Amino acid sequence: MNSQSDEFRNILISLPKTEIHVHLEAMARAESIWTLWQKNKISMDGVRNLDDLRRRFQIKTLDEFIGVFINIVQNSFRTESDFSYLINDAGEYLKNNNIVYAEVFFAPTKFIKMGFSFPKIIETLSGGAQSIRQKYGIEIKYLIDVSRTFGMENAMSNLNLTLEHRSPDVIGIGLGGAEASGPARDYAEVYQKARDSGLHVAAHSGEDMGPEAVWETINCLKPERIGHGISAVQDKKLMEYLAEKQIPLEVCPTSNLFTRKYVSEISKHPVKTFYDNKLFVTINSDDPTLFSTSLIDEYMLLYDNGIFTQEEILSLMINNINAAFLPQNKKAELRSYYENSGN
Ligand SMILES: [Zn+2]
Repeated sequence: MNSQSDEFRNILISLPKTEIHVHLEAMARAESIWTLWQKNKISMDGVRNLDDLRRRFQIKTLDEFIGVFINIVQNSFRTESDFSYLINDAGEYLKNNNIVYAEVFFAPTKFIKMGFSFPKIIETLSGGAQSIRQKYGIEIKYLIDVSRTFGMENAMSNLNLTLEHRSPDVIGIGLGGAEASGPARDYAEVYQKARDSGLHVAAHSGEDMGPEAVWETINCLKPERIGHGISAVQDKKLMEYLAEKQIPLEVCPTSNLFTRKYVSEISKHPVKTFYDNKLFVTINSDDPTLFSTSLIDEYMLLYDNGIFTQEEILSLMINNINAAFLPQNKKAELRSYYENSGN
């Protein structure tokens, strides 16, 4: 079992992969966040060292997670040059997982509130994408998370900034944050405008709210992909619809185990039900640092727990390629690596 597991991990590492639901800020290593706290003289009650900081990442709900993400992780960065830690860590993470193409969420709201200039942020992120490309040959594209935590006007403002400072490295928008307090219908206008402007659109949904929220997201936002979508398992009609329309779900198993809303243990994760019902399932890490996971760990979690066979996991990896916002010829090139891949 163990050697079989090790062998499969090696196969996974050897294959070029795509990751399409991962947040840039949550690729920063805890060590980097701690270094930035020292550099920027940031302190917090009860956090005296790196171990204390890591303990803060042990969240149990989505709301708690959002608090840590904004007030601990994003709060560490005080100048654009601090983002160099983020870019270095992201490059290392992608390289270690042999991820050759990633679509990465970046949530600007907290930074804008802290006084960062949006065009400077975009310039820094673009420079980061370029340095990762040069150093590792890895391509990253950004999706600006307009955020549902701060209301519709803030989301529209984030979209407008994205459109005013258009960059080829920014290819779309996402909607992360507090799902319970930010229903999809409030963001219909933002998404309409983004689609009309030629941006790709993805949206988190069904992570913290029931299937009715996923229906609302589909109807009001018309996203090309749905982040999580886990609660869809409670609604047969919704699963049938998702299967028929082949709307990709960006499933993030470990993340769902942390936020606990719909999944208490991995053996009960709906990902297998989705797969068996022919939904378009992709696998992603969401927030690798905060959840101490990685894309390879996510696949191994599903394999080691007997949820998917090797062959099924390879087919999920091909789904990740097919669901990416990549040109068809690039997808075909990536798929070709899977043609003789150990099954
Ligand atoms: Zn996410």
